[in-house]
Amino acid sequence: MHLYLHIPFCRQACHYCDFHFSTNTANKRAVVEAIANEIILRKDYLPKADIETIYFGGGTPSMLDEAELHLLLNTINQHFTVSPRAEITLEANPDDLQREKLQQFYNAGINRLSIGIQSFHEPHLQFLNRIHSANEGEICVRTAQEIGITNISIDLIYAIPSPDHSILMQDMQKAFAMDIAHISAYCLTIEPQTAFGSWLKKKKIKPIDEEYAAQQFELLVKNLAENRYEQYEISNFARNGHYSMHNSSYWKQRPYLGVGPSAHSYNGASREYNVSNNARYVEAIQKQIIPTTVETLSPADQTNEYLLTGLRTKWGVNKEKLELLSGSTFASIHSADLQQMTKKNWIREDADNWYLTDSGKLFADRIASDLFIEWNG
Ligand code: SF4
Repeated sequence: MHLYLHIPFCRQACHYCDFHFSTNTANKRAVVEAIANEIILRKDYLPKADIETIYFGGGTPSMLDEAELHLLLNTINQHFTVSPRAEITLEANPDDLQREKLQQFYNAGINRLSIGIQSFHEPHLQFLNRIHSANEGEICVRTAQEIGITNISIDLIYAIPSPDHSILMQDMQKAFAMDIAHISAYCLTIEPQTAFGSWLKKKKIKPIDEEYAAQQFELLVKNLAENRYEQYEISNFARNGHYSMHNSSYWKQRPYLGVGPSAHSYNGASREYNVSNNARYVEAIQKQIIPTTVETLSPADQTNEYLLTGLRTKWGVNKEKLELLSGSTFASIHSADLQQMTKKNWIREDADNWYLTDSGKLFADRIASDLFIEWNG
C-alpha cells in the first residue's frame, strides 16, 4: 500500500501555487501531532499490506524539524509494516537543505528527495516568487548526492515568459551535468486563486502563450531523450529506471491513504478529501473525527479517471481493464473515436493496450476527455 502525508506549511507563497498551505507556522507542531493521530485513526482504511511507498508532500515538508519527522515516521512504523525496500520521498525546497538537515533526513530513512528547483535562473525564480536562489538550488543537489541520497528528482517549470528558449536549455544543461535521476517538468499554468491569477484578471500579466508552451515542451522532450531520460509519464522523466514508485501507483490506480489537511485517499471504490483548513483539521482530529468528504466513484468516474491518468503514462490504458471498469461499454461507445484518433496519429494500440503517440501527448487531456463515458446508473 501507499501512504501520502500532506505537510501544509510554506515559508513564502509562490505566485503560481494553488496547493493547500499556510505561511503561518504558529500551529505547526499541533498539525504534525494531528497528522500522527490521523495515521493511527486511519490504520485500517486499507487492507493490511506492507507499505511500499511513503511520500511527504505539501506545502514544504522540508520545514519539518527532526523531532517532527521522527514522530511521523515512528507512528507509521508502530502501526504499519513498512517494506524494507520502501521508497520514502520527501519534497524539499533548496533553502531548507543545508548539510545538517540533509544528513538528518538521510539518517531518518528518507531515500528519495523531490526538490523544488523550478529554474536555475535567478530572474525566473524571482518572477515565480521562489524563496531560494539559483545558487542554493545547485548546492543542495550536490550536497545531497555527497551525503548519499542519489535518488533525487527535481521540478522544473517551463513556459515562463522569456524572449527565447535559451534559459530553458541552460536549466536542462545544469540538470544533466549534475546527473539527476529524475526530472518532473511542469508547464506554468495560471490558476485563478493565485497571485498570477489575480494579476491576469487585472491585466498586469499576459496569459501563457500556448504555442510557446508547446515549443518548450517539445524542446524538453527532445533534449531529455537525447540525454538518456525516459519519458514514462507526460511530465516525468527518469534515468536508468528511477521512476517515482509512489506517483506511478496513483497513475496505475493503486489504493492509497492520504493524511493531513487537504490530503486525498483512494480505496478503489471511493475517494476521500480531507478539509483544506489547518485549524479545522486539528480541531476535528482532537475529537477523534476524520474531517473528510467521501465521494463514491461510479463506473464512469473510475473509467474516466483511468483514462486521464493512464493515457499519460508509457504503460497506456489496458483494454480489458477499460471494459471491466465501464461495464463492457467502452469499446462499443468509442470505436469510431478510437479509429479517428488512430488515423490522426494521436493514439496507437497493441494487442492489450492503448497509448498516446508523441503528437498525442500534446493533447493528452483533450484526448482523454473525448473518450470519457457517461453513467446513467
Ligand atoms: S513552496 Fe511549493 S507548495 Fe509552497 S507555495 Fe511554493 S509551490 Fe506552493
